Amino acid sequence: MRKINFNAGPSAIPLPALELAQKEMLDFEGTGMSIMEHSHRGKDYMRVHAEAKALLIELMEVPATHEVLFMQGGASMQFALVPLNFLAAGRRADYVVTGTWGKKALEEARRVGEARAAWQQTDVQGRYVRVPKQAEVSFDERACYVHTTSNNTLFGSQYWQFLDTGKLWQVCDMSSDILSRKVEVSKFGLIYAGAQKNLGPSGLVVVLVHKEFLKAASEHIPLIFRYATFAEHDSLLNTPSTFGVYMLRNCLRWLKAEGGVSGMALRNEKKAKALYAVLDELPEFYIAPVEKESRSHMNVVFHLANAALDEAFVKAAAAEQMAGVKGHRSTGGMRASIYNATSQQDVETLVDFMRRFARQHG
Ligand SMILES: *Cc1c(COP(=O)(O)O)cnc(C)c1O
Repeated sequence: MRKINFNAGPSAIPLPALELAQKEMLDFEGTGMSIMEHSHRGKDYMRVHAEAKALLIELMEVPATHEVLFMQGGASMQFALVPLNFLAAGRRADYVVTGTWGKKALEEARRVGEARAAWQQTDVQGRYVRVPKQAEVSFDERACYVHTTSNNTLFGSQYWQFLDTGKLWQVCDMSSDILSRKVEVSKFGLIYAGAQKNLGPSGLVVVLVHKEFLKAASEHIPLIFRYATFAEHDSLLNTPSTFGVYMLRNCLRWLKAEGGVSGMALRNEKKAKALYAVLDELPEFYIAPVEKESRSHMNVVFHLANAALDEAFVKAAAAEQMAGVKGHRSTGGMRASIYNATSQQDVETLVDFMRRFARQHG
């Protein structure tokens, strides 16, 4: 039996995407082998590669100004590749630090060149509980780029109004909310996302990069580290994560059938509302640390007012087939990750459980 999966990443994958993979596992479209066993230069894999890319362009409305790249190494490798490519010697990059991942991205940039936190704020307990408003941030006009994180996976905050970086290129880590809502791709110099939250299995990273921004990239780094190489070779200079791209295709087919990005955004809003409603209804029992205006629709973070009940909560949820409600080891508490693949029904089951648990232990 399949569990109700609230894992933060790797996380739930839409059942139809998995079932299609199961059906095609031994014999992909009559070719007599799995997609994993095909040459990455053969026409069968090329068809999958092209379909995944075309679906991504269609669903995200990627303008012709941007290249779509399939890379590897996780979002963490992007933390290094962005400054290696774009942080020119003698110049600086600005980082808006709204959570653990943004902080890691900044630290990695500092190993390459000069980077500063243009904004960074935590509450008295050291937790990141919100994203900044435009008026609170000022950028270095000479910065090579501004790095932001659209959704903070560990702390559960998300931008509902992206920062306007003016003439500066904005590089955005969208690992945990890509395709969950409409995003104006043209506003970004570069968008990257590890696949394991909203796009399929780990091992694949999707990158959208503006062709003009690419022109500013360094040519003094190894070929394999350059975004330009991936753009020139349609991400096929070397072997891509072929199964990852195949699963991306399956997930995007599902997403399209479910109403595309606008369909997802509506569902995600409904799901998040239901969960935050129970938190707001029972403030003596559940604590929601993130400021309301910054609440994430992807990762709903909360604490039990009585932390002694944490273990009982996780255990009782598991007994009802719900996995992944325990918070990140660095933050403690609880977190329900409700990415695209999580259904309204899954969330209702959790909400019902949370009400009952509060009644029994309150
Ligand atoms: C999960 C995550 C990462 C790290 O991803 P890896 O693929 O494990 O390197 C980075 N940024 C965000 C926003 C994430 O959610």
